[in-house]
Amino acid sequence: MIEVLSVASEAFPLVKTGGLADVAGALPGALSGLDVQMRTLLPNYPAVNAHLKSPETIAEIDDLFGGHARLLAEKVSGLDLIVIDAPHLYERGGGIYAGEDGADWPDNWQRFAALSWVGASLGQGLVKGYRPQIIHAHDWQAGLVPAYVAFGSGRKKPKTIMTVHNLAFQGQYGPDIFPQLKLPPRAFSVDGVEYYGGVGFLKAGLQCADALTTVSPTYAAEVRTPEFGMGLDGLLRSRASSLHGILNGIDEAAWDPGSDENLIAPFRVSTVAKRSQNKLAVQARFGIHQDDSPLFAIVSRLTWQKGIDLMAQSVDLLVELGAQLCVLGSGEPALEAAMQAAADRHPGRVGVIKGYNEGLSHLMQGGADAVLVPSRFEPCGLTQLIGLRYGCVPVVARTGGLADTVIDANTMALNASVATGVQFSPVTATALGEALRRTVALYRQPQVWSKMQRRGMKTDVCWGASAQVYAELYHSLLGRTAKDDDQDD
Ligand code: ADP
Repeated sequence: MIEVLSVASEAFPLVKTGGLADVAGALPGALSGLDVQMRTLLPNYPAVNAHLKSPETIAEIDDLFGGHARLLAEKVSGLDLIVIDAPHLYERGGGIYAGEDGADWPDNWQRFAALSWVGASLGQGLVKGYRPQIIHAHDWQAGLVPAYVAFGSGRKKPKTIMTVHNLAFQGQYGPDIFPQLKLPPRAFSVDGVEYYGGVGFLKAGLQCADALTTVSPTYAAEVRTPEFGMGLDGLLRSRASSLHGILNGIDEAAWDPGSDENLIAPFRVSTVAKRSQNKLAVQARFGIHQDDSPLFAIVSRLTWQKGIDLMAQSVDLLVELGAQLCVLGSGEPALEAAMQAAADRHPGRVGVIKGYNEGLSHLMQGGADAVLVPSRFEPCGLTQLIGLRYGCVPVVARTGGLADTVIDANTMALNASVATGVQFSPVTATALGEALRRTVALYRQPQVWSKMQRRGMKTDVCWGASAQVYAELYHSLLGRTAKDDDQDD
């Protein structure tokens, strides 16, 4: 049995702002049959604390970046949790990364340096009787874990893995924070946390971890190019032999159209006709006419990355094609306003609900005909995977994980009976418009559409295969440890 500690800033169902939470929440369960015992380290935000019933205190830390902290352990929703109870860092209103005003918390560097420091310390024996062999760090918030391990003093060090869910978020700070990070001076170097004269949390993880992963094979190749590498492509090219692209899956229990309580009418492949009841409910929720027009959905952060500006430019065409659009999300104010303006221009055909609503997102996937993901870059993307499972045909940009998980309905793929959705490239409003045209044309051929929809529902988008690849990676890292140990002796 391999002991792995997963360090993440969010995990479903306790606290979620995006795909990272889905992955951190699902991976431990997916690995449990594969000889891997995974515990999860999370900050004790109020949302996490609300799930704790009778936690056990397993350690006390006198001064964790400015205050006293306790480590609490409890099993919650199938996750074997260790939470960092440090009120000075995590007990506050607002979001987990930003306050009510949308501005990042000014002490985020301390909040997530603390998360990383505790993760690394657990790997070096902070709690008696618990010593993970591998620490799996997710995204920049856990990016210092590999640095704390690499520059730490312990003799028997855990192996570290750094997983990038999105290279756009790097945790970049000025050099002034370095003296407070509890790292030795030599760590402020190109081989450590130093990045363009400051401190880079994600850079540190990518530099110091034993293995790197990102969440799809295509994104693993893309991040090594200047176009997608966001300044880190040189480092990623130099570490190419340690970089793996492992596709995300979705949690089959959390996303099961056959038993989903958020649906008016749960359905399976054989009862897919029931989706029409969910479609009526979605149309009602968004104030859209309840007719049989093709209904497109967007469930997304409303940001430039997600191509929402391209979508705003294409709404008039979508309506001209006789389709409808429902949008759930929030994000950049200009894009929120552009989507709202589109709804105002097209009453009864376009509806927008601002905000985050887990239940409604399920209903939309179970009722809309197609889900749109026009991202400029997309490390993996979960919405298209959910769409496949829920018979909501994905219409996606050909990039990152979207390219790896959707098979475009071109003539060859249709003739070979393998198409599961529509892809477009380049990521422009013109190409998106063409994809909308093609999708509506396919929708108007009910037999072709329904075959494509059912094929998508039968596609394996759950964790089985990818969990196996992670398990093999853990084994190979420890295999290397054993060999290194032999050589050391
Ligand atoms: P991200 O880059 O935001 O992590 P992903 O596609 O990887 O994108 O994951 C997004 C996850 O967040 C999916 O589970 C999706 O259903 C969910 N999501 C995004 N926006 C909303 C929203 N406004 N309300 C509910 N769920 C949302």
